[in-house]
Amino acid sequence: MLQIISPKDPFDAIVVGSGATGGWAAKKLTAAGMRVALLEAGKKITPRDFTEHKRAWQLPYLGMSPKIRQERPIQSLCYACRESNYERFVNDRENPYTQEKPFHWIRQRVLGGRSMSWGRQSYRMSGQRLSAGNGDDLRRAYFAESRDGQNGARGDDRTRGYPH
Ligand SMILES: Cc1cc2nc3c(=O)[nH]c(=O)nc-3n(C[C@H](O)[C@H](O)[C@H](O)COP(=O)(O)OP(=O)(O)OC[C@H]3O[C@@H](n4cnc5c(N)ncnc54)[C@H](O)[C@@H]3O)c2cc1C
Repeated sequence: MLQIISPKDPFDAIVVGSGATGGWAAKKLTAAGMRVALLEAGKKITPRDFTEHKRAWQLPYLGMSPKIRQERPIQSLCYACRESNYERFVNDRENPYTQEKPFHWIRQRVLGGRSMSWGRQSYRMSGQRLSAGNGDDLRRAYFAESRDGQNGARGDDRTRGYPH
């Protein structure tokens, strides 16, 4: 049910979406002392909702629910969309989009967004790539965060070449 809450104090910023992008933005803004409203279209999940590790025999359709293909013909092309978790992925029938060229848009509606099922490969950007057109400020900020371990990457800016 839609809840309308009128906060006493206004927000300094509104972030839409709690995925890696919105979540990170909210973290940085709140750390800087701002009052932030984070809007999320998906439902909140608890540790009980992490069902990916269920075995086929623990699922009603043994991992082959016909609803996945029927309701999510695009999402089900993603290896991660399975009977154990498909409800986090958008219903393609209810969320159509234009494809001038074939494009599989994998989307989730859940607190945390796609970070709830990403593959945990976190490549460190090279200093060379960050410097290209972006100036040194971005490069310095990125490697400062790497040193703090905040962005999941490790290392320093002496590394050249491709992300790794
Ligand atoms: C199966 C899978 C594996 C992946 N593996 C990797 C990997 O190993 N390494 C890697 O770097 N990347 C990986 N990725 C990509 C990575 O997960 C995404 O690029 C990243 O999580 C996207 O974050 P985001 O915040 O930009 O978007 P999302 O995570 O999609 O977040 C968007 C959020 O906005 C919410 N939202 C949407 N519309 C509205 C609205 N109108 N109002 C309010 N909220 C709204 C959604 O519910 C969602 O929570 C993977 C992706 C998938 C699907």
